[in-house]
Amino acid sequence: MDERAFNEDLLDYLDNSPTPFHATHNLATAFEQAGFIRLDEAAAWSFEPGGRYFLTRGDSSLVAFTLAGDPAQTGVRMVGSHTDSPCLKLKPNAAFKAHGYWQLGVEVYGGVLLNPWFDRDLSLAGQVSIRHGDGRIEQRLIDFARPIATIPSLAIHLDREANENRAINKQTYLPAIVCRDDVAFDLAETLNEQLRASDPGLANSEITAFELSLYPVEKAAIVGLREEFIASARLDNLLSCYVSARALLDLETPATALIVCNDHEEVGSGSAVGARGPFLRSILERLTATSENYARTIAQSMLVSTDNAHGIHPNFSDRHDAQHAPVLNGGPAIKVNSNQAYASTNETIALFKQACGTAGVPVQSFVARADMGCGSTIGPLTATALGVRTVDVGVPTFAMHSIRELAGARDPHALYRALGCFFAQA
Ligand code: ZN
Repeated sequence: MDERAFNEDLLDYLDNSPTPFHATHNLATAFEQAGFIRLDEAAAWSFEPGGRYFLTRGDSSLVAFTLAGDPAQTGVRMVGSHTDSPCLKLKPNAAFKAHGYWQLGVEVYGGVLLNPWFDRDLSLAGQVSIRHGDGRIEQRLIDFARPIATIPSLAIHLDREANENRAINKQTYLPAIVCRDDVAFDLAETLNEQLRASDPGLANSEITAFELSLYPVEKAAIVGLREEFIASARLDNLLSCYVSARALLDLETPATALIVCNDHEEVGSGSAVGARGPFLRSILERLTATSENYARTIAQSMLVSTDNAHGIHPNFSDRHDAQHAPVLNGGPAIKVNSNQAYASTNETIALFKQACGTAGVPVQSFVARADMGCGSTIGPLTATALGVRTVDVGVPTFAMHSIRELAGARDPHALYRALGCFFAQA
């Protein structure tokens, strides 16, 4: 796929994936349309040589893989990423009235950079559980896809210290305004109406639970004088989900290759669907059938953990180690942390560099300043859970965890080409 079509598709994916449920659904649809067979974790599995498969867990994590031969003979070339992004999630009893307005109370999910959430046109999306007339319970995606809420800033006249010294109280500053209170507002009824508008067959169904997030309606865009950058919400880490899925979908020669996209990375990965849970391990165990074959497979496998890296910001260059300061459009950055916040080893770095070399992709290096902490990824968690050798890499990004992040427009396609060569690496 050429770079222009690739970036257009990436922008569509970002816009159409406001929550991990949507991100996973859109990936699953792409794999299904490409002829991958959907596996059901509750059913018995059998595999064909040359087979292509995918499955989801909790509707927010996904694994897809292709088989070229016996994994115990070759190992599995794996790429990991995460479907979740820091955001504001609705509390169960979200709606309340204050001073003439209906508002929605929120919880802060993950390490949100909060300031950019003020004064945005916000919509609401996620997954709801509905109970049908016959008592059956089913999960459905929901997305208002229009600005229905906003969190206005306090005017500078009422807080003269705002530019020097404004702390954000997560309980009292963040409830979103949805409408005046001169009309009745029932959140459950509003959700029901939204769902029935898209499916009139749900007239007798009722929403009994939900997981909903606010998200900005502003579309992803190519920006910059020379169209060098991509601006969007959720670049961390839907960019990597998309790139890894595209690399697997576009494999030119058969390979035993796999992608995993986990939810809950931004809150530590500890869940039934997160990277500290048994999702990937259980698939590899079923794929290899015996503990002997599992151990042989792991010993020959490798994981590329893909998650965005911090590009050096020209206004804040003192926050970087000058020797390890990746730039946007300089190619993927390999992340190193000797305290194992990143899982890269000299062996896996060499193997990833080799894939980049084959692809003709430049590669950079990121290490945090020794006097500052750094983030982490699913890389060390998956390496710990499986014992698989791992490298942490990512596309350099500005404004990580903001409501609108910025990446280079050349880097996603470069990472895609590198991952294609990694999958084909013997
Ligand atoms: Zn991330």
